[in-house]
Amino acid sequence: MIAFSYLRLFASNCGSISEFLRVLCVSVVKSSMPEMTFNSDTRDKLNAMYARLDAEVAATNPVCRMSGECCNFEKMDHVLFATTLELTNIVETKGVDGIAPEGKLCPFYKEGKCSARDVRPLGCRVYFCDKSYQKNHSQRIYEKYHAEIEALARESEVEYAYVPMVSALRRYAREGRFHDPARPFDFS
Ligand code: SF4
Repeated sequence: MIAFSYLRLFASNCGSISEFLRVLCVSVVKSSMPEMTFNSDTRDKLNAMYARLDAEVAATNPVCRMSGECCNFEKMDHVLFATTLELTNIVETKGVDGIAPEGKLCPFYKEGKCSARDVRPLGCRVYFCDKSYQKNHSQRIYEKYHAEIEALARESEVEYAYVPMVSALRRYAREGRFHDPARPFDFS
């Protein structure tokens, strides 16, 4: 069974980002999928998709003040979701060393900057504080490319799930898997 719901990923303490809050969450996994078969062809297709995505976002001219607040989950009280396909790309590129066992901060957020910029997931690429961009572009672009990532996962027979990124990375560092349908993530 695959369940869809729109979640508010960011807390309402930041009204400027509220338009971005509703994102597609696919929370239940196809348990019959085989083990990860992420290979160079899949990586090339994902990177090509990221290049098109980044170009499409750039064409809308979003304003970035370089505050770094979009990555500071503790300060903004939000949860970033990512697909297991993208997380596989991240751990195969960056490894899992340095992923702290607890806390809300993204392990790649270093000194106010992203240390995983080339492999950052869709949610990081489409989010900007710019209210006009949020209102007119972010959700549309997000849903378009999320659908492409899901299709790539199914084409590549890579297990597909949409999971809270930091919690999933921690689980991977501990257990060698991003999620366990029998043990839902704890957001408390
Ligand atoms: S992956 Fe990079 S851009 Fe995304 S939340 Fe982490 S530090 Fe920020």
